[in-house]
Amino acid sequence: MNFTDFSKEEIERAARYHRPRYTLLFVRTALTVCVVLALRFGVGRDLDGAGWAGAAALWAVLVVVALDFAALPLDVWHGYLRERAWGFSTQTLRGWVADHAKGLAISTVLAVGAWTTVVALGRVWPSWWVAPAAAGAALVVLVLLFGAPVVLEPIFNSFRPLDDTSLAERLTALADRADAPVKTVLVADASRRTNKVNAYVSGLGGWRRVENRNTLLEASDPDGVALVVAHELGHRKLRHVAKLTIAAMAAAVAVVIVLRLVLTPPHGRDLPVALLVVLASEVVLLPLLSALSRRFERQADLFALRTTGELATFEHVMTTLARRNLGDLAPPRWAYLLMFSHPTAPERLAFARANA
Ligand SMILES: [Zn+2]
Repeated sequence: MNFTDFSKEEIERAARYHRPRYTLLFVRTALTVCVVLALRFGVGRDLDGAGWAGAAALWAVLVVVALDFAALPLDVWHGYLRERAWGFSTQTLRGWVADHAKGLAISTVLAVGAWTTVVALGRVWPSWWVAPAAAGAALVVLVLLFGAPVVLEPIFNSFRPLDDTSLAERLTALADRADAPVKTVLVADASRRTNKVNAYVSGLGGWRRVENRNTLLEASDPDGVALVVAHELGHRKLRHVAKLTIAAMAAAVAVVIVLRLVLTPPHGRDLPVALLVVLASEVVLLPLLSALSRRFERQADLFALRTTGELATFEHVMTTLARRNLGDLAPPRWAYLLMFSHPTAPERLAFARANA
């Protein structure tokens, strides 16, 4: 790998920022296993008196809330204190806590709904609950990945149309030229929360839109914004959201099938075991989904280069974003394989130059 785009100091600084994150992943996973086992063999045994539905719902609340509270010190440190210390977070503690509480509320509702449904299915079809459960899991993934932009994102962000009309026209024209027309160019008020820069495409059919975070608009010149948007249009044109969603749905079905081997049929108190199975499945499935995602990122980069024809802008944007977002330039191999949805900046630069 050619690292001439970044200095030794930049590579080390990025490593200092990211290494604790990888350690945290181990600690968090170990913590999850401990909490789940403690619940299974501790307090949890008293919940069966609440009837099957009550026990399932109580188990879901107990597990989600206990895991959240156990990891709260880590999350405050990782998600809030450290981001502030490194100058990324622009959020107040109050804002962070509000976001976290919203996330917890959503997780709790989803967990209660999902687990009670699984247990109910197990009561009706002790052997065949796996079929509707797998279909349901696939449907939930579909709704979350396609519907989340419309339903969940407004809870966390507010959006407004891009008021720079000449830039909006340029981006709309770019979308037309890329044969991926958009209805609206929206700006999300991400700077309320972070200085990190991003743009993304989401949604389905008529909801499709390009969103720029206001941090992107502030950090880049119009050429840079156009290039980032061209990359996002590439994702759309090549149907990456749809393909990744299908892959994630297949993964969800696979996890339910593995659950079927362990739970015969599921009871409310089996939730800790179910979670351990899901955790283990993730370790197997995440590298596959991450590899697919990295492949799509390369294709979108290629699309952006071909649509704009500007290697120099690509180089400028890629190095600027990596510096500003402090992307990990040389991550440990295992972390890269497990959870990197994007190739590293040096990889993307090398790929762009090789294909320009
Ligand atoms: Zn991308």
